[in-house]
Amino acid sequence: MDVRTKPREIGRKSLDVEALKRSFVEWLVYSVGKDLRSATRRDWFATAALAVRDRVVDRWMDTTRAVYAQDAKRVYYLSMEFLVGRLLTNSLANLGIMDACRVAADGIGVRLDDVIEVEPDPALGNGGLGRLAACFLDSMATHHLPGFGYGIRYEYGLFEQRFEHGWQVEYPDNWLRFGNPWEFPRPEVLYPIQFYGRVEEVRDGSGRKSYRWADTEKVFAMAFDTPVVGFGGQTINTLRLWSARATSDFNFGHFNEGDYLKAVEQKVLSENLSRVLYPNDATEVGRELRFKQEYFFTSASIQDVLRRYGQYHSSFDQLPEKAAIQLNDTHPAIGIAELMRLLVDQHGLEWEHAWDITTRTFSYTNHTLLPEALEAWPVRLVERVLPRHMQIIYEVNARFLQRAKRSTGDLARIQRLSLIDEHGDRRVRMGNMAFLGSHKVNGVSALHTDLMKQTVFADLHQEFPDRIVNKTNGITPRRWLHQANPPLARLISSRIGQSWITDLELLADLKPKADDETFQEEFRRAKRQNKKRLAAYIARHVQVDVNVDSLFDVQVKRIHEYKRQLLNLLQTVALYNDIRDNPTKEWVPVTKIFAGKAAPSYQMAKLIIKLINDVATVINQDPVVRGALKVVMLPNYNVTQAEVIMPAADLSEQISTAGMEASGTGNMKLALNGALTIGTLDGANVEIREHVGADNIFIFGLTADEVRELRQGGAFHPREVIATNPRLKRALDMIASGVFSPDDPQRFRPIVESLYNTDHFLVTADFEEYCNTHAAAVELYRDRTGWTRRAILNTASVGWFSADRTVKEYASEIWGVTPVLPGSAEPAEAAPPLPDASREGGSRGDAPKDGGDLEAAE
Ligand SMILES: *Cc1c(COP(=O)(O)O)cnc(C)c1O
Repeated sequence: MDVRTKPREIGRKSLDVEALKRSFVEWLVYSVGKDLRSATRRDWFATAALAVRDRVVDRWMDTTRAVYAQDAKRVYYLSMEFLVGRLLTNSLANLGIMDACRVAADGIGVRLDDVIEVEPDPALGNGGLGRLAACFLDSMATHHLPGFGYGIRYEYGLFEQRFEHGWQVEYPDNWLRFGNPWEFPRPEVLYPIQFYGRVEEVRDGSGRKSYRWADTEKVFAMAFDTPVVGFGGQTINTLRLWSARATSDFNFGHFNEGDYLKAVEQKVLSENLSRVLYPNDATEVGRELRFKQEYFFTSASIQDVLRRYGQYHSSFDQLPEKAAIQLNDTHPAIGIAELMRLLVDQHGLEWEHAWDITTRTFSYTNHTLLPEALEAWPVRLVERVLPRHMQIIYEVNARFLQRAKRSTGDLARIQRLSLIDEHGDRRVRMGNMAFLGSHKVNGVSALHTDLMKQTVFADLHQEFPDRIVNKTNGITPRRWLHQANPPLARLISSRIGQSWITDLELLADLKPKADDETFQEEFRRAKRQNKKRLAAYIARHVQVDVNVDSLFDVQVKRIHEYKRQLLNLLQTVALYNDIRDNPTKEWVPVTKIFAGKAAPSYQMAKLIIKLINDVATVINQDPVVRGALKVVMLPNYNVTQAEVIMPAADLSEQISTAGMEASGTGNMKLALNGALTIGTLDGANVEIREHVGADNIFIFGLTADEVRELRQGGAFHPREVIATNPRLKRALDMIASGVFSPDDPQRFRPIVESLYNTDHFLVTADFEEYCNTHAAAVELYRDRTGWTRRAILNTASVGWFSADRTVKEYASEIWGVTPVLPGSAEPAEAAPPLPDASREGGSRGDAPKDGGDLEAAE
């Protein structure tokens, strides 16, 4: 070894093939405890993950040290969900050692691809919201922004979906069963989280009133850290997930011997807090456990933020300059009351001062306008579970409404502004809470932000006209193109180099090649390779044989009425009829591909899944259509499956009722991979059209304004619409009469009746235009050159939808953070301790001293 090597370099693991090989064998033998002969694929996965992890840790510490050294402002992204996907491929690709690792594995007789396939996909999220959080983590690390993800380490992720006789059946997702090699448990990073109890008023010598939250039930939040590898491997950020641990207050001495088992039971019960992810559909009513989960991870995260800040600061005045806390939806919005409580009750700050610090620290992202999906917790529940927080919410509300009353005498308006919904069962409006406690509130697409200003937050927007801003969502090009689509990524890099991976708008350099014959040919070859991979996946999972040369028409996303899988399905049935009526015509072969989970309590969505499966069974078995049309419904949609589907799609279905999809990100993944979109002017589709050009996207249907007018006007009568459209009527009649469910002809009555009677999502209203637009798209597919040209222009034009762009906008316009490049700098000086009045007797040295930040705080 070179004796001049700097001490920090010692022990740094080499990235070359021989070192990787040695590392594999060492990990396998000494940590996994197997030899080359007996190792299973799972053993090899653990081995590979641990060997790769070794290559991350030094860099991780460098990042942490650099951020500490500069006392840089950090972003704290609080999210109930992180849908990160598999991490082995991600780490290898971002570290740039995929090939070295493959060669090293080959060298010891192991196929890397087999190893990759056994990694479980951590399903710690429901869909778009959780996936967005994961994309942001990747972008922050890649662009050297000091960003922490904070969430919950659910022991069970989103349920595994299987189909039994075509019905969705849910199975538990026990993703930790074989251990998780990526996480670092931090048993020393432990925060007490309190529930229930009561609030005592106390007065000090000078008569100053303060509050003590007493007689609470406590549980600990314990940290598990996962490194987030930025592209290039330079910056490694942290995803810190909290797991519930019973406190030592489960004093077994308090129980006599007979109650020993009860005491153990209590311990187990208190750890249920982080047991399982709620599979929310938009309409689910809140449950107490869910509310406690929200407070649990939010409180732990904020305590951790204050602990880290407190190491270098002796007052809270600079908190907003050192910490930006982003609320991903309202799930962590209780954090606003929590920070107020910590500042006022525990650290003795004056209310106004604490409120100023709080609002300058928080910002909030709204993800939905659906009234039934806006969180509103019953006052009685909040009062019981978090009595001190309820008082704080009342106080925030009283002060705000007092101010508002000075400018308006309109009582109805005051009621709409209030944090408390007084209609019926009184509830706390978490959206209003998040809005009031934040300096910026953002929507996730231009249309959605506009609608926010007009609907949910119309009154608050008038009070605070500068608060709402737009941040159109994005996706990470690393996972969704570089890793998921190697054939296309290679083709792109062969023409414009590799810089697009971190600067996606460079894809625009491909535009001149849209008409280049050779490039077109290679682009088609890449697509075909991906379609073959998906065809094999389909054959393996649902035993349907699909034609690789057919048009792959893809709708993959959660099953929800507003996303209108039914519209797609009705068009499918109508097309099926067209083919049967005219079987000798030269039809363009179409393969309809669906995937998505329904919330277990969402009966209509589950019935839609059954209908898709039943329609698929009939169509796929009909000898008359064979070849012209196939229908596939893939079970258990998740990130890993999406990585196989996105690169293989020709047509991307983004057909939600206009005004209802906040942004969508599936639309971006598909367009980036060269699928043409058929969609409504909803969410980010509007901006996708602006970027790809109206000629390269198929837009149809009512606009958001037209939807509102139609619904309000009372002039929409689906029964009449159906009566005037024979193709639609025929499709509905078939479904209603049991053509697809001969064993139970009445099965789909609820679907048909809801379309006839209310059709809240305007499926019938958009049916005809959708069919015409779809037919035009299919017709265009005959024109190979014309289609490929448009596909290339889609890939080349959607660079703006990179999460890198989104995160940079947040960084400069909301967070006020700048990149920190790992390197040496003088460490910041430690500060004298924060003023801690410690009015709460509870902590007793429970709080960690070093926070487990890799000791970089030294
Ligand atoms: C991207 C993604 C989503 C979001 O899809 P939308 O079409 O935007 O609803 C949901 N689930 C998974 C697994 C994803 O990868």
